[in-house]
Amino acid sequence: MKLTVLGCGDAFGNGGRNHSSFLLTDENEHVLVDCGASALIRLKHESIKLEEISTIIISHFHGDHYGGIPFFLISSLFEQPRKSPLTIVGPPGIKNKIYALQEAMYEGTGDKLDQLTITYLEYGVEPIILEGKRITSKPVEHAPQSLPHGIRLEWKNKVFAFSGDTSWTNNLIELCDGADLFVCECNFLREQAFGHLCYDELVERKNQLNCENIWLSHMGSEVLNLETSVFNKLDDGKKIIF
Ligand SMILES: [Zn+2]
Repeated sequence: MKLTVLGCGDAFGNGGRNHSSFLLTDENEHVLVDCGASALIRLKHESIKLEEISTIIISHFHGDHYGGIPFFLISSLFEQPRKSPLTIVGPPGIKNKIYALQEAMYEGTGDKLDQLTITYLEYGVEPIILEGKRITSKPVEHAPQSLPHGIRLEWKNKVFAFSGDTSWTNNLIELCDGADLFVCECNFLREQAFGHLCYDELVERKNQLNCENIWLSHMGSEVLNLETSVFNKLDDGKKIIF
């Protein structure tokens, strides 16, 4: 399994980084976890054909995590006409949220989405089983209106875990238990505000996380400037085989 980091920045673009988006690849199939506003640009940079992306998984309804979907979809309609089905997985209400965003950004294109074969799947209590993928979601602690979730994707005998945006929650322990790779947000250095993790707390709680391969994402300027050997820090464009 290969992870390509399309974007690991925060909402404010600190460090000149792109919005949240992670591409997982096995042979010729790609799964996109988060589709922040810059995702299409970064997919072009990596020469990825949109048709080869079978599934988009969205952690929550904030623009730096799902704001790239309208660009992805207008490209799939007009530029790289898509024939293969696409599955979009996310919090409850995802179909309506995407339609509304599509209309807000490109008025009149919302109804054109019917020309694409899109299946929308919503997070629930049970994991989603989808063509060899098992997607488990857990609610996390972030702006409640954004319906925030952390994600655990089991695919081809590998486990990829993603915190989404969150303050500390014990659900992270379950999501990353035994994961081959855990991408964990770390917006702040010290506790600052509800809704995001801080480095100090992660260091304190590291031994609660049963994962040897933890990479930090969604870093604000203080964490970006921090030298640390405790955790790995992601970069846009970084590729990790796991
Ligand atoms: Zn957020």
